[in-house]
Amino acid sequence: MSELPPDLPRLRTLETYLRLQLARVEQQIRHLEDQSRTQKPSPAPVPPAWLAEYDISAQHRLFQIHTGDCRMAGHRVKPIDEAAARRGVVEAGACQFCRPDTALGVLE
Ligand SMILES: [Zn+2]
Repeated sequence: MSELPPDLPRLRTLETYLRLQLARVEQQIRHLEDQSRTQKPSPAPVPPAWLAEYDISAQHRLFQIHTGDCRMAGHRVKPIDEAAARRGVVEAGACQFCRPDTALGVLE
């Protein structure tokens, strides 16, 4: 026994109603999909592992080594790899705040 109306006019009315409902649901799905696409937070930039800081002299001598996320690092820095950080700690010294020598296992 079907719960649907037996006559064509009422079936057509029901069909129209369901099409409108489906269109609204599809519209809402697209709306939410657009929203989640635009709201997706971009991943935070990964700080470099190590930073070399240079002094203010004209020669830009190596001043000290920092960990990549050290807030004490100045503006005269450039990212370096671990081998360069080890050499830099030995040659110039380590920042006293972030202690890259400890992180690198290098004793001055
Ligand atoms: Zn530092």
